Amino acid sequence: MKVIYSEVQKQHYPQHFLSSGAARPNPEVPERADRLLQAALASGLELMEPEDAGLEPVAAVHSPEYLQFLQNIYRRWCYIDGASSEVVPNIHPDRRDGAYPASAVGQAGFHMLDTGCPINGDTWNSALASAHAAVQGAALLLDDEDSAYALCRPPGHHAGRDFAAGFCYLNNSAIAAQELLAEFGRVAILDIDVHHGNGTQDIFYNRNDVFTVSLHADPSRFYPFFWGHANERGSGQGLGYNLNIPLPRGTGDKDYLEELDRALSRIEAYAPGALVVALGLDAHEADPFQGLAITTAGFGKIAARIAALELPTLLVQEGGYLSDDLGANLESFLDGFRS
Ligand SMILES: [Zn+2]
Repeated sequence: MKVIYSEVQKQHYPQHFLSSGAARPNPEVPERADRLLQAALASGLELMEPEDAGLEPVAAVHSPEYLQFLQNIYRRWCYIDGASSEVVPNIHPDRRDGAYPASAVGQAGFHMLDTGCPINGDTWNSALASAHAAVQGAALLLDDEDSAYALCRPPGHHAGRDFAAGFCYLNNSAIAAQELLAEFGRVAILDIDVHHGNGTQDIFYNRNDVFTVSLHADPSRFYPFFWGHANERGSGQGLGYNLNIPLPRGTGDKDYLEELDRALSRIEAYAPGALVVALGLDAHEADPFQGLAITTAGFGKIAARIAALELPTLLVQEGGYLSDDLGANLESFLDGFRS
């Protein structure tokens, strides 16, 4: 099994985010990638660098305005007198069907849902390289590999069709799923990150060719707050093809695995040709976000059940923040997946 990763993904180094209104060091640090790569190699995976796949696969799920914005906003921001060193929005529209502003500040408000996704001079290159890791992973599956691990950093599942949010800029899992559709007809995305995959839900909400499933800490008291509830089931042709399973804060292995089985049986009934796992490791009991309480051994059990579906499977890294257990959690998952 290959781990796909490029050092370019480490250049993006966001400095701050607001937590309960206070400016704190941003936890989505490059060191995450070092620890995850080390763990993947220790598990026996073989490193592969992603090829430059250009913009086409990214443009298949994100809007042209948004991609223009991501590529150019930092340069434009630097011309603003007295502006912050990173692009951070200070206005948030209450709906997304208003006029599209010409101003850099207005566009930052339009395209950035929160303050957890600051943009600096390296963000675009790193986000694009991260997306290319996912594209490369999809290409391996299209080339008849059973599985691959795209070490995507920055992560992607909070990024919607035209917005960044929660440390995410380009939706790597969605981009990979869209690539896989070319051959597999129907694809399921199983998101096990502790946070609801609201960006992925946004992208596929009206579609039935990608079944989006997310298990996460109940958003009524946890980020992203406004999405991830059980009654969000898709709309139009997509009605019934979005499944949210919110879990009480602090849920441990036993209850989690029961709900996972429910999710997996729904995926089996959908009969997809391939599976994308949005692999957040922040549901761990020692993760700084403290949403759920999965153990290190628990990740191995989760992985074994996913592997039992016997689908071509692409693992796409999402969250999981610095703790002494981060590397061990990935190793446990990879070992469980391949056992
Ligand atoms: Zn997360």
